[in-house]
Amino acid sequence: MNTFKKTISFIREQFGEPESFIPLHEPRFIGREREYVNDAIDSTFVSSVGEYVNRFEKDISNKVGVKYTVATSNGTSAIHAALIISGVKYSNEVITQALTFVATSNAISYVGANPVFLDVDIDTMSLSPLSLKRFLKNETYSKNGRTYNKKTGAHISACLPMHTFGFSCRIDEIVEICNQYNILVIEDAAESLGTTFKGRQTGTFGKLGVYSFNGNKTITSGGGGVIVTDCEKLAKLAKHITTTAKVNHSWEFYHDMIGYNYRMPNLNAALACAQLEQLDNFIERKRKLASNYINFFKDKEINFISEPLNCRSNYWLMCLGFKNPIEKSKFLKFSNENKIMTRPVWQLMFRLPMYKNCYRDDQKNAIILESTVINIPSSVIF
Ligand SMILES: *Cc1c(COP(=O)(O)O)cnc(C)c1O
Repeated sequence: MNTFKKTISFIREQFGEPESFIPLHEPRFIGREREYVNDAIDSTFVSSVGEYVNRFEKDISNKVGVKYTVATSNGTSAIHAALIISGVKYSNEVITQALTFVATSNAISYVGANPVFLDVDIDTMSLSPLSLKRFLKNETYSKNGRTYNKKTGAHISACLPMHTFGFSCRIDEIVEICNQYNILVIEDAAESLGTTFKGRQTGTFGKLGVYSFNGNKTITSGGGGVIVTDCEKLAKLAKHITTTAKVNHSWEFYHDMIGYNYRMPNLNAALACAQLEQLDNFIERKRKLASNYINFFKDKEINFISEPLNCRSNYWLMCLGFKNPIEKSKFLKFSNENKIMTRPVWQLMFRLPMYKNCYRDDQKNAIILESTVINIPSSVIF
């Protein structure tokens, strides 16, 4: 109990909040946010076209090192659009992890495909290349260059690994394995903007990558997302399908396929441009907080989970690991009663009614993490 009390005071010290509620992650607006948002209002271009959208797309491309970026209304719509343009069809299967936010699986369902839940690695908390290799070797067969699930007969057309809490998965191995099986990789990098793996930005290894700018992410546009890619054809298709598939013409309304209204409004893009200017600063400060946590927990029975090998993390949501589920529950109760927000990781996807019958492997690591890991306050500190 003494450690619990010390932990609470330590967290309060970090955030300079001796008494009030401390959330898990809150946005910081310390740059040119007001200037850009006011400018968008003055321009009257507050909706789905405008200079800030174009600028934000260019800025993201430069920041992460890709050729093309398409801004969207949120991260979920970005994943949905990415799956459609990848050619994932009704009744296909898409490999992902059960330890993820529900949006990953929901986007797969939106295209009528089914998620296949494979285990994560303990250190990255993200899709395990070993589990992936084992599944593909033992549970699938190849026909006409395509990979099919032996049990369900379904075509496995894509793999959607997620970089959990801003840690990177072993994305180079995952891409290499998927290439062997002709499975397209889309990275759900919603949580990992600015995280690098072997020096390269997460979200840029797969054919497509997706980031989210929801209010609780490292930087925010209020609501928003992007799709990134080096493929010109896919970038054009992404833009087209997220803008109602309207064929460019000054006055005629002609749409050549079923499109979506998934555009990022210019008002949100204005906020996003200002936030992106702060990204490096935010990550430095979050990494400072992580290093403070590491020092504090060094000699404690609670384990602060540090970034895995080869990964420089944005430390989006920081994690504590407990010896057992009982200690974890005690700390969750104690911290929340003391107005420090902490929460368990998401319940694994196959526990949710809509995903309970989906294919899954043994989930050994995911179950360990689910029962012992929590998130702690991780906002940018000053
Ligand atoms: C936040 C998040 C999303 C969805 O982003 P929204 O912008 O909230 O739609 C998708 N996947 C993961 C893993 C996320 O954390």
